[in-house]
Amino acid sequence: MKVVILGCGRLGAYLARRMDQEGHQVTVVDRNAEAFARLGSDFHGAMVLGTGIDQDIMRRAGIEEADAFIAVTNGDNTNAMASEIAKLVFKVPRVVARLYDPVREDTYHTLGLMETVCPTIIGADRILEMVADNHEASKAK
Ligand code: AMP
Repeated sequence: MKVVILGCGRLGAYLARRMDQEGHQVTVVDRNAEAFARLGSDFHGAMVLGTGIDQDIMRRAGIEEADAFIAVTNGDNTNAMASEIAKLVFKVPRVVARLYDPVREDTYHTLGLMETVCPTIIGADRILEMVADNHEASKAK
């Protein structure tokens, strides 16, 4: 699969490395050249320096042939806007955006333009589950 990942931070670089190791054709876009160091020297994919909402940068990253676009910068607006461009302008079949803000995530999820992941909700659910498990375990003692 050809995939373009916007944002080479902790999540973007981790995803890029995983997908590269699985044999996918990965291109990563970031506005900070130093971020690409996270990919390591054994990364086989491509790196494009620039901001993700610039259509020329997206074209340079191969968005026109991409099977998937993943927006994981640390900006919800950037991720949402870049994902809309990927879906509506470049007709990328699979588009996934990370949105930290649960309210915004709900809005974009409802619009149905892109698939969304909200680490705030996933993290909170998991933490509440762990706290409840611990509580149950200590009651059983
Ligand atoms: P993290 O918070 O570790 O997931 O890192 C987020 C990454 O997104 C960083 O490497 C930033 O340089 C990158 N980033 C933030 N805004 C943009 C943008 N508009 N275009 C491209 N990369 C961005």
